[in-house]
Amino acid sequence: MGSDANIERVLWTEEEISGRVAELASQISDDFRGSPVPVVVVGVATGAFLFIADIVRKITLPVAVDFIRAESYGSGTESSGVPRISSDLKIDIGGKHVILVEDIVDTGNTLSSLISHLETKGASSVSVCTLLDKPARRQVHFKLVGEGKFYRGFECPDYFVVGYGMDYDELYRNLPYVGVLRPEVYK
Ligand code: 5GP
Ligand code: MG
Ligand code: MG
Repeated sequence: MGSDANIERVLWTEEEISGRVAELASQISDDFRGSPVPVVVVGVATGAFLFIADIVRKITLPVAVDFIRAESYGSGTESSGVPRISSDLKIDIGGKHVILVEDIVDTGNTLSSLISHLETKGASSVSVCTLLDKPARRQVHFKLVGEGKFYRGFECPDYFVVGYGMDYDELYRNLPYVGVLRPEVYK
């Protein structure tokens, strides 16, 4: 596994991530098996692109896949508050179970506005599956819709992390692991 010079420390290796993704996929498959209501897995672009690609291949149920885009960060490392939905779903989610796939939940602003948006569109339930959760920085308590469940891969310490889909200024997304970016890079 190659390590980038700008990565201070690897938090989760490719192997650890893939093991955890398999566990989450099997939990989701168990929870939604036999559902008479269609299941739509929605990735939050761009950060969740690797996570959704990996997890849907391990979910043993028929699922539709779509993407939504919300912008909250500029090129910095601090959230800019309430995000804007800059690219909406293609699939009609009315009456369906939605599983929102996120890279990381930080302040909770992005998630809570995405959840309200999906609720407005008539989803029968909205679950959230996030690879990382940084509870130390939560500002907004998000509420799931209907019988929605919360799945999380790992609890993340309060560092700015990159890799496995997550960027700093659009770089580092292709690293196969998650690591802490050297603060010199963004200070
Ligand atoms: P929130 O709205 O919860 O504050 O932030 C959500 C979004 O901010 C995440 O989906 C992610 O794209 C970005 N974000 C939050 N924390 C980090 C982090 O540590 N590293 C990176 N690369 N992005 C983050
Ligand atoms: Mg994200
Ligand atoms: Mg970003």
